[in-house]
Amino acid sequence: MNTTTTTAGRDWRQGAECADVDPEIFYPLDLDPHGPAVTTAREICADCPVRAACLLDVMAGEDPARRWGMTAGLTPDERADLYAGRQLSSALPGAVAA
Ligand code: SF4
Repeated sequence: MNTTTTTAGRDWRQGAECADVDPEIFYPLDLDPHGPAVTTAREICADCPVRAACLLDVMAGEDPARRWGMTAGLTPDERADLYAGRQLSSALPGAVAA
């Protein structure tokens, strides 16, 4: 989960798989990408029908210097990698931004 808001609003959250789940699951102390805590959050996100909207929302609104918790099935480091990849892709001549 995240706490950002986009111009599209938050209606998509009504279908979130995590709506009725303990929020602590998404803020594990152990962020080992293959560890049990992250895996538990990933499994919930994997079944989420609004995962794409969730990912777009967090990538649009999350402060790159303050990433924390699991969102859209990704760790903070994974979202940082995704963000960096988008920047690199859009900077290359002829590349299409993700
Ligand atoms: S993708 Fe994960 S964090 Fe995002 S709304 Fe769905 S269950 Fe929640």
